[in-house]
Amino acid sequence: MEDIDSVRWRDLDRLLLRAGNLVGENFEPGEQLRNDLQEYAKVLVVGAGGLGCELLKDLAMSGFKNIEVIDMDTIEVSNLNRQFLFRMQDVGKSKAEVAAKRVMERVSGVNIVPHFCRIEEKDIDFYSDFNIIALGLDSIEARSYINAVACSFLEYDSEDKPCLESIKPMVDGGTEGFKGHARVILPGVTPCFECTVWLFPPQVKFPLCTLAETPRSAAHCIEYAHLIQWDEEYHGKPFDADNPEHMQWIYSQALKRAEAFGISGVTYSLTQGVVKNIVPAIASTNAIISSACALEALKIATACSKSLSNYLTYNGVEGLHTNVTEFSKDDDCLVCGPGVLMELDSSVTLQKFIDLVGEHPRLRLSRPSVMHRGNNLYIQAPPVLEEMTRPNLQLPLFELMGKVSKDSVHLSGTIITNDKKSTTTRKVRVSFKGIADGITDMDTACGG
Ligand SMILES: [Zn+2]
Repeated sequence: MEDIDSVRWRDLDRLLLRAGNLVGENFEPGEQLRNDLQEYAKVLVVGAGGLGCELLKDLAMSGFKNIEVIDMDTIEVSNLNRQFLFRMQDVGKSKAEVAAKRVMERVSGVNIVPHFCRIEEKDIDFYSDFNIIALGLDSIEARSYINAVACSFLEYDSEDKPCLESIKPMVDGGTEGFKGHARVILPGVTPCFECTVWLFPPQVKFPLCTLAETPRSAAHCIEYAHLIQWDEEYHGKPFDADNPEHMQWIYSQALKRAEAFGISGVTYSLTQGVVKNIVPAIASTNAIISSACALEALKIATACSKSLSNYLTYNGVEGLHTNVTEFSKDDDCLVCGPGVLMELDSSVTLQKFIDLVGEHPRLRLSRPSVMHRGNNLYIQAPPVLEEMTRPNLQLPLFELMGKVSKDSVHLSGTIITNDKKSTTTRKVRVSFKGIADGITDMDTACGG
């Protein structure tokens, strides 16, 4: 029998050891490239669910050896049909930990470090350590957060051109039933998540009058029970979608209502789907989308082929259809652009600056922490850091920034969109009035 190691990289070697016409810039085929990939490339997989399990396996089998995975969730019975790294006895355990262990057991030589926590719990330095961030998420908020973190590493030169070495590439996969997408985000070069956030349509809400008077579908009956009948019955008691008794109550009410209106199709699982806004997850869609993402990660790491430019859609609802669209960047994007410009007096204190950021119509960032070139000017939490940085609030920002005429500061704080609070980061280009590069007003006056 042939030694496993001699055949293991056979397919990868076809991509990495041979020259070609479709390769990326600076592609240098050879064994060194494969070794570099295995030794130096470091990938973070965000999410260890349906997409994450697939991504970890695909990356490990594509030659990546240094992988970390972050996920705050624990394994549930309902995951087992598609999150194939998990077994019945894993229910209740950390997804990240079990997924990492299983892939390491099966693919020798790969090292996967799990992180069983929220993505917001890691500091910026944690994320800066990776060459590529692969997203296997199902929430817009989480994508938006990681996107903001990755974009915060992006630096612009004095002509507002992105500095290539500061780009933190991301590959993002998403699936919904038989549909999915895979995209490559090179902040500053291709549109970031926020540039094209309109791609995610707002969730469809049914008009209340339809629900109340003319329900036409099973979903209408379920929403009526969920949004109206629950409150009528329980007067302010919060509905908990994870409580089976609550869900059962909604289901039975919806069923009664559906019968009264001659509507069929109300089932317990549809009730869960409508109330929790879940679309059934399909294992094959996850597999296809993850493989596209893993391939893009390999292309970014080795330049063995040109990157996807920049958004692939997959549709397996009827037959099979895939398409690649090149979306363009929003030059005014608050997240990947050079940042909002604020002109300030050199006397403006850090506290005043923080107030201005909260009032700024494009920023509206509340309780921001402020960083400048890796220095914490003011940190909101934990309390010990807050206390340490609090004296800075009374000092002029100009002094805290080392008396430069203009520079970027990084902020992280909370914004409210559609009544939802979320944590995000913003870049602000601060320019001090009447201060030329490196010299103050007074210097200019005296120097004539
Ligand atoms: Zn953007």
